Amino acid sequence: MDEQVALAPYFNDGNDTMRIVLLGAPGSGKGTQAKLLREALGIPHISTGELLRAAVKAGTPLGLAAKAVMDAGNLVSDDIMLGLIEERLAQDDAQAGFILDGYPRNLTQAASLDELLDRLNLPVEEAIQIDVDTEMIIQRIKNRAEQEGRSDDSEAVARNRIRVYEEQTAPVIDYYGERGLLTRVYGVGSIEEVFQRVRGVLAMREEALETQA
Ligand code: AMP
Repeated sequence: MDEQVALAPYFNDGNDTMRIVLLGAPGSGKGTQAKLLREALGIPHISTGELLRAAVKAGTPLGLAAKAVMDAGNLVSDDIMLGLIEERLAQDDAQAGFILDGYPRNLTQAASLDELLDRLNLPVEEAIQIDVDTEMIIQRIKNRAEQEGRSDDSEAVARNRIRVYEEQTAPVIDYYGERGLLTRVYGVGSIEEVFQRVRGVLAMREEALETQA
């Protein structure tokens, strides 16, 4: 695809292991950007929301425990999430890099993730926040609810998800900022425009990492 060709000068030197955390409110478009990045970089897109929805669909004990919490727009417990992400990051494909989408969702998860990735010798290299205004996000979530029929996307639940995001997840932005890993990307515009901005950020990080090496 086009993005792959456009990214080639930055990412196809054969030893790229970019480890990325994508941050942004529900409906900010981070899932869409994560999928484009997966195509372009050939590294897995790890969405904890998707992992949980698969568990719900399969009717596993974890899925059964998570469903009511997800339907209300609240956060599944940190212990469950750590187990889930640990298992996923241990898989072979994640050793060559990953795009984390939906994790970490609070400061406890951010600290647990750092500890886990230090142990695996796979530290986060770039955190990107996709920045979109709250009212625009509520409108997007309502539209998505109509199109996809997601049970956690009614307006009341959408507003709760945003409240949870502002109270618990937004501090994670500063967590990465304090570590010099964060870049904000303006998330309004076409999918392709936002992707170009994300791509520009990664190109700069890649360059900085190469200079350090
Ligand atoms: P998402 O698809 O990322 O919006 O996630 C959908 C729902 O899954 C969230 O509203 C939470 O209930 C749950 N979830 C996903 N990721 C996490 C996480 N890192 N911690 C706690 N709950 C999560």
